[in-house]
Amino acid sequence: MKNNAEKLKNLFDQFTACTRCPLGTQGRTQVVFGAGNPQARVMFIGEGPGKSEDLQGKPFVGRSGKLLTTMIESIGLKREDVWISNIVKCRPPNNRTPLPYESSTCSSLLLFKEIEIIKPRIICTLGSCAAQILLKKPKMALATVRGALQIEQGLHILPTYHPAYLLRNPAAKQVVLKDFEIIKKALLDATL
Ligand code: SF4
Repeated sequence: MKNNAEKLKNLFDQFTACTRCPLGTQGRTQVVFGAGNPQARVMFIGEGPGKSEDLQGKPFVGRSGKLLTTMIESIGLKREDVWISNIVKCRPPNNRTPLPYESSTCSSLLLFKEIEIIKPRIICTLGSCAAQILLKKPKMALATVRGALQIEQGLHILPTYHPAYLLRNPAAKQVVLKDFEIIKKALLDATL
């Protein structure tokens, strides 16, 4: 019987040279897989790798990643406690938003399998793209669900802003810190 770390490794090993969507041939340096604790109770999901992530091969390591780490620590967790991933695993050219085909292809090949293996108690989506994919509402405005715990196919999902948005709009940081308190409470809720 394989443990979660082995299952994730086996999964990722199949996609190190993936070209199953156009992002595989549009200048990525490497595929950036999810990372963190394979037994995590909390999973954070962003949109896709940026320049720093593409170069280092790890999710959320640039300025947005540093901010995310600070916010994770604000609820008493460490980055090593959680799992951090993205909807698409290859950097879109010029950091553009992934196209619907790219998001649906990559998330069904990788992200939803990561979720199946890790079985987190709560998933925090960062930004519109991740919320739309996880809640299966492609045109949904983030404002309609942000900060409210959603249940979709048995998954507890908390949509909030992406850290990159907070870097552009620092005033929204307080809002996200409050959203993160919902994660903290959810982890204490034995019924989840
Ligand atoms: S984004 Fe995902 S599906 Fe597309 S090439 Fe990269 S790993 Fe493959």
